[in-house]
Amino acid sequence: MSESKSSESKSAARYRPETRLVHSGTLRSQFGETSEAIFLTQGFVYATAEECEARFKGEDPGFLYSRFSNPDISMFERRMIELEGAGAARATATGMAAVTTAILAPLKAGDHVVASKAMFGSCRYVVEDLLPRYGIQSTLVDGLDLDQWKKAIRPNTKTCFLESPTNPTLDVLDIGAIAEIAHQGGARLIVDNVFATPIWQSPLSLGADVVVYSATKHIDGQGRCLGGIILSSEAFITEHIHNFLRQTGPSMSPFNAWVLLKGLETLAVRVRAQTETAAKIADALASHPKITRLIYPGRADHPQAATVKKQMRSGSTLIGFEVKGGKAGAFRCLNGLKISRISNNLGDAKSLVTHPATTTHQRLTPEARAELGISEGFIRFSAGLEHADDLIEDFVQALETV
Ligand SMILES: *Cc1c(COP(=O)(O)O)cnc(C)c1O
Repeated sequence: MSESKSSESKSAARYRPETRLVHSGTLRSQFGETSEAIFLTQGFVYATAEECEARFKGEDPGFLYSRFSNPDISMFERRMIELEGAGAARATATGMAAVTTAILAPLKAGDHVVASKAMFGSCRYVVEDLLPRYGIQSTLVDGLDLDQWKKAIRPNTKTCFLESPTNPTLDVLDIGAIAEIAHQGGARLIVDNVFATPIWQSPLSLGADVVVYSATKHIDGQGRCLGGIILSSEAFITEHIHNFLRQTGPSMSPFNAWVLLKGLETLAVRVRAQTETAAKIADALASHPKITRLIYPGRADHPQAATVKKQMRSGSTLIGFEVKGGKAGAFRCLNGLKISRISNNLGDAKSLVTHPATTTHQRLTPEARAELGISEGFIRFSAGLEHADDLIEDFVQALETV
């Protein structure tokens, strides 16, 4: 059993995403199991010393050691490659391992990075705090302002990084336009596509060079395990990612790869249902008297509605809104909810609410938060798989306490 013998993975590329999500990359053992097997093994044994030698030389395509590759991890990578339309991919232990590797591995001291300032807190730490310690300077820009991207690019800029929709204020950045600016300046564009999901947005087809995911979110979708993945061209993965991951070791666990692989089978169904629910809730709450601002990428009143239409196939499973009364108002709303649970996670089957100012973005100064539109009354909502009407009724009763 090996990747090269997987006829299913080869033929699946011509099918639609839903079909690929169920079948792509499946490797069957000699037992012909229906559901993919779990290969909880550190290493692999070889029939002969000659076979072992050939594996190490890369002349035999089999597996060597689970820090390098493993059947479950290969199945997960192959299914993601075919969903995303990438040339190659490498799975990682977490989404942050994917982001850190994709940004750091190709760079060296003296290089420069430009990134949109509205991003996941840990991504901002990597760009703003970690890179400069190794001699890689970074510039943060307002991602919506194309002039700022143009002005920030220097002769030594190697990487541009963005997230869209952004966390937590759901700004939608023009991926195609920013890719063009990056390429004109001789840089690559890496897109963190967690909020959009591979179901609603394909950054590689919009001009990005690399796409990264925290598989922890919608790909698992049931709150169980952490994971990440980097998808790009075969050349980028071979040249910059392959050795870095092998030698530094932030590998995905085979068990987690199996859970995430099974998560992919239901990804399209879940994301579609969660998006429909989010859209209904956004419409129901948009003119609520206790809500001062509501941002939902699927609504016509979203500030970048034209960009949403251009690059996303649908809205989002997330809503951002600001309640009256600042932090006290937001806390009353969160504490009053009976179905949606307070958590800093997203993309789960369970609806989750987050207060970014005191959790995911508490590391930022109040000024930096204000600049990003993260006020004290701002709440991020991640729609789960519950009935939309139950969730709306729950919000209406919780907002009465605000
Ligand atoms: C959660 C998240 C990450 C980090 O993923 P982990 O799996 O928690 O390491 C990175 N980017 C975005 C946009 C996220 O939401």
